[in-house]
Amino acid sequence: MANSRTFVIIGGGLAGAKAAEALRDKGFDAHIILCAEEELLPYERPPLSKEFLAGKKSLSDFTVHDSAWYCENEIDLRLGTRVLSVDPAAHNIKLADNTGVGYDKLLLATGSRSRRLPIGGSDAAGVHYLRTFDDASTLNSALVEGSSLAVVGAGWIGLEVAASARQRGVKVTVVEAASLPLIGALGAEVGSVFARLHREHGVDLRLKSQVEEITTAAGKATGLRLGDGTNVTADAVLVAVGAQPNVELADQAGLSTSGGGVLVEASLRTSDADIYAVGDIAAAEHPLFGARVRTEHWANALKQPAVAATGMLGEQAEYAELPYFFTDQYDLGMEYAGYAPTYDRVVFRGDVDSREFIAFWLDAGSRVLAGMNVNIWDVLDDIKSLIRSKRAVDPDTLVDPQVPLGDLVSSTQ
Ligand SMILES: Cc1cc2nc3c(=O)[nH]c(=O)nc-3n(C[C@H](O)[C@H](O)[C@H](O)COP(=O)(O)OP(=O)(O)OC[C@H]3O[C@@H](n4cnc5c(N)ncnc54)[C@H](O)[C@@H]3O)c2cc1C
Repeated sequence: MANSRTFVIIGGGLAGAKAAEALRDKGFDAHIILCAEEELLPYERPPLSKEFLAGKKSLSDFTVHDSAWYCENEIDLRLGTRVLSVDPAAHNIKLADNTGVGYDKLLLATGSRSRRLPIGGSDAAGVHYLRTFDDASTLNSALVEGSSLAVVGAGWIGLEVAASARQRGVKVTVVEAASLPLIGALGAEVGSVFARLHREHGVDLRLKSQVEEITTAAGKATGLRLGDGTNVTADAVLVAVGAQPNVELADQAGLSTSGGGVLVEASLRTSDADIYAVGDIAAAEHPLFGARVRTEHWANALKQPAVAATGMLGEQAEYAELPYFFTDQYDLGMEYAGYAPTYDRVVFRGDVDSREFIAFWLDAGSRVLAGMNVNIWDVLDDIKSLIRSKRAVDPDTLVDPQVPLGDLVSSTQ
């Protein structure tokens, strides 16, 4: 190798693998060490709740690179290697076997883990969480036609698994504390679309319902006891109550963290000049929104590493992509772009009942904050342009399918 520097990446998810790739693509020809706690080659997680459970994809289809790629690119990939601590002053990390590794630049890509439910029965046999391929394989075996599944939480993963399970002939009950599914992510207007979707596909959706306990018999889950005293019987339980970012290493290293994320600049650099953070853990200054944004989205893990790699190599770059998310449930495929933590109203273009529409989240000045295209494709670039323009649109024109979105885009430029 032409130079003797060492760059270390902690975390073997999509973000970690993409960071190694980006460093090599940008010509970094020194030592890259990728420490990955899981034993499997880095893989993508979105198919775990969708195509994998539907039997349409297997692990090799969503493995980021095969093992030959790591050899050819001279990536020192250390699978099954948990990093215990980071010492920024000494530029050193400590591995679970107590050995130390020095670094010149460090990238944290430690992702998230499933949030646990602090109630009785949550560790019983037959209680599933879904984060890793192992989790998905165990859940896959439990989804037997004619059996029943109780899902705690009507967020993305809970709903995607509900859809996959229904399509496999499993009886599904979803219990959610909020008044609608996905209300925190999308608001009530679009949350109700997902409530209808799942009910139409035979899901018993219990809203405004608290789970008090996972009931068990002989150490195995038998269902749920709800706050109103009723019981849901089930052969298996999936707890899908969100993800918790793995920020312990950053905290221990003394890096600035807040609200569950590692604070990074738009360059994705942390409060330490030689440490960067990407993916689920990165709470990044967003140049467009003038706010810190942290999202647990596949697209961040895919695209942030190239920006971090640029900074690690001493050049300027900023991550300015709009947050982007997709899901597939039954016959509903959608993409969401933008950022609407608060909004004034949602308007719909197209036919909501037949689930072919675009929803736009507007602020009080009729500026588009976010857009979601449902079963309508090739409109994402126009939606993104409307958001980026930050210009007011006429809502009546926006929802008129006779007016091409492209015309609206040109009128806001
Ligand atoms: C079932 C499922 C479905 C999803 N579907 C979608 C979707 O449809 N659309 C979408 O946009 N997003 C989806 N997501 C979210 C998306 O997968 C995540 O945003 C993405 O995986 C984040 O990537 P990451 O590399 O930051 O973290 P992760 O994928 O969490 O990878 C982090 C890795 O770091 C390892 N690690 C942690 N700590 C250490 C340590 N101390 N030492 C060594 N290694 C460590 C972990 O074991 C893990 O392998 C889904 C997630 C799940 C679980």
